[in-house]
Amino acid sequence: MFDSLSDRLGGVFDRLRGRGALTEADVRGAMREVRIALLEADVALPVARAFVDKVTEEAVGQNVLRSVTPGQQVVKIVNDALVEMLGSDSADLNLDVTPPAVVMMVGLQGSGKTTTTAKLSRLVKKRGKKVLMASLDVNRPAAQEQLAVLGTQIEVATLPIVAGQQPVDIARRAMQSAKLQGFDVVMLDTAGRLHVDQALMDEMKAVADISKPDEILLVVDSLTGQDAVNVATNFSQQVPLTGVVLTRMDGDARGGAALSMRAVTGKPIKFAGVGEKLDAIEPFHPKRVAGRILG
Ligand code: GDP
Repeated sequence: MFDSLSDRLGGVFDRLRGRGALTEADVRGAMREVRIALLEADVALPVARAFVDKVTEEAVGQNVLRSVTPGQQVVKIVNDALVEMLGSDSADLNLDVTPPAVVMMVGLQGSGKTTTTAKLSRLVKKRGKKVLMASLDVNRPAAQEQLAVLGTQIEVATLPIVAGQQPVDIARRAMQSAKLQGFDVVMLDTAGRLHVDQALMDEMKAVADISKPDEILLVVDSLTGQDAVNVATNFSQQVPLTGVVLTRMDGDARGGAALSMRAVTGKPIKFAGVGEKLDAIEPFHPKRVAGRILG
């Protein structure tokens, strides 16, 4: 992830730093290369354009060019803008509410939603919370059983399966069980679909009405690049998302989804999935990721 972007930017910045003095034309030339590198990393066009315009304006507008180390200054401006593009601060789950806190997981089929539900439940359990997972996925065969198997592996309770029950009723039952049995956190794994469609959105809204989620996390596959951002845009227009989990960050994605997500959707990336194992999840730290990109 980010390797090729990192190499490209590294080359541009080495050349900038290698010079004593910089002209405005030098900066503009370098920023043209940065723009191309971002687009090749699959960053959404308006995001790449806004990024380069902002950096260029700061770099040529201040006293940067007259400073002792102009190249260094420009790199710092790029670093700060990258951190901002990635979302500035890392964002945790908001679970400090009157229990049970409800986390609703949404996303397309195959994005890694069920796996991520288990990964996050494991993390929350490690913080000392009593967690109940419930699968509302009545579309994909064996989806409910899959979550039950994962629950056994991580020793987290799952809502017993009632054959034929519809998502809204499962959500209602999950909420009742959580209240009666004193669970601190309910994780609702909603049904995915192959594409964003109205039936899916209506179902999610109905489930949200019943469960009043404190978090609605969208799970998207980082390997799908700009598609991931389009999916996130679609979802965020219909349901009040509180954040995004980007899965398959261990794959060789070019990084476009991670880089465009915040700017396009306004939602923070809260976690990154980094493998198939149930401990393969990390909080998303914009500063660290920017540091990794700039080497
Ligand atoms: P769902 O249909 O959205 O519920 O998707 P699943 O949770 O069943 O995941 C689909 C596949 O993606 C499974 O084989 C998971 O092991 C895999 N997967 C999920 N998250 C990650 C990740 O972060 N990295 C990798 N390499 N694989 C993942």
